[in-house]
Amino acid sequence: MDSKKENGSDEIRVIEEIVEGYWICPNCNAKNRGAEQKCEACGAIRGEDVQFHCDDNAPVITDEAELAKAKAGPDWICPFCSNTSPASAENCTGCGSARNSGKQRAVKEIPPGGAKPKTGPDKPKTPPPPMPAAFKIGCGIILLLILVASFLSCRETPEKIEIIDNQWTRIIERQEYKTVEESVWEDEVPQSAVKLSSSREIRDYKQIPDGFEEVEETYTEKVKVGEDKVEDGKIDLGNGRFQVKYKMVPKYKEEQRTRMVKKEKFRKEPIYAEKVTFNINRWIDTKPVELKGTQDEPKWPDAGVKKNTPPQIGDVSEKARKETYMVKVKRLSDGKEYEVKKMRDKELTFDQFMKLRKGTQWEAIFSGLGELREIKLDPAGK
Ligand SMILES: [Zn+2]
Ligand SMILES: [Zn+2]
Repeated sequence: MDSKKENGSDEIRVIEEIVEGYWICPNCNAKNRGAEQKCEACGAIRGEDVQFHCDDNAPVITDEAELAKAKAGPDWICPFCSNTSPASAENCTGCGSARNSGKQRAVKEIPPGGAKPKTGPDKPKTPPPPMPAAFKIGCGIILLLILVASFLSCRETPEKIEIIDNQWTRIIERQEYKTVEESVWEDEVPQSAVKLSSSREIRDYKQIPDGFEEVEETYTEKVKVGEDKVEDGKIDLGNGRFQVKYKMVPKYKEEQRTRMVKKEKFRKEPIYAEKVTFNINRWIDTKPVELKGTQDEPKWPDAGVKKNTPPQIGDVSEKARKETYMVKVKRLSDGKEYEVKKMRDKELTFDQFMKLRKGTQWEAIFSGLGELREIKLDPAGK
C-alpha cells in the first residue's frame, strides 16, 4: 500500500518559531515585554541579572523587521550603567556611552519542559471508592449461609432405624445374531456380505479452478489526519525573544475502505462411486430380560442364551448384567421414611442387601441436613 504517498510524510517534522518573552521588573514587579529596555511602569533599567521568561502562549513574531531584531544577537551590557542595549545600538540606550567592551547577555538553551516551573508535588493517589454497604452485607449473608450449610452437612448423628421394605432388580442386556441389510461404498464391503444390489452415487466433490472474478474487499487504512505540535526545547536569545523548536508528530485514524480484488473461482464437480447394498449376519442388541423382587433372594433372569460355533441365525448372547438394590427405611425417632440405594456414595451391594432384611433394626448415620449417610452393618453398630 502506498498510503504514505497519498497522505503526506509519516516523518516527524521539526519547525521553529521566534516568540517574544517577558521580564519582571525587580523594582516594582511589573511584567514587561521582552524587547523592552526599561520598565514601562517605573522606568527602572533591565539590568544584567533580570531573567527572561517565555510562556506557552507567548506571541509569535512574524513581522520581518521584528524578526531581524530578534535574530540580530543578544543585548549588550553597559559597563558604566549596567543598562542592556540591543545588539544594533552602538551607544548605550541608558547613558549614551559607546559600546566598546560591553559584554553580551548569555544565549541559553532550555531543554524541553526545562523552563517550566514544577506544578507542585505529585498528588497522592486517591484510595479506591469504598464498597457499597449493601454489597458488603450481601456478601456477608452468603458467606454465613455457606458456613451454616457446610457445618450442618459435616455434622453426623447416629439414630435407630427399621427396614420396612426391600426391592431388587436384575437385568441382563442381550444380543441376537441376525441378518441385517446395510449399504457402503464398494471398497468398504465386508467379505462375508451377500450382495443384493448396487447403484452409482455421488461420493464427494472436486474443486475445479474456473477463472477469476472481481470481488469487493474491506480493509483498514491508517489515514493521517493532522499533526500534534510538541515543544522540543527553546533558546533564550538574550534579547527578550526566544526561538522555540517544535516537533510536528503525525496523528492518524483508522478508516474502513473497500476495494476490488481478483479472486480465483472454483466449480464443484461430483465424484461418482458404486454404493453396494448387501445382507450380512451380525450380533445386534435385542430386548433385555429383567427380574424384580422384594423379600426373596435376588436371582438372575433366564437370558435364553443359545450359542453355536460358528454362530447361527437366532443365537442369543449376554452383553451385560446390571443389578440394583434398594431398602426402605423408617427413622424410629420421628417415623420419617427413606429410600436407600447408596451408602457413602456407593451402590448397595448384594451382601448388604441380604443383611438389611425387612423388620430388622440398625443404627444409621444422618447428616445435619437430614440425609441418611450410612447404615452401620458391623457388629458393633447392632
Ligand atoms: Zn519597574
Ligand atoms: Zn550605560
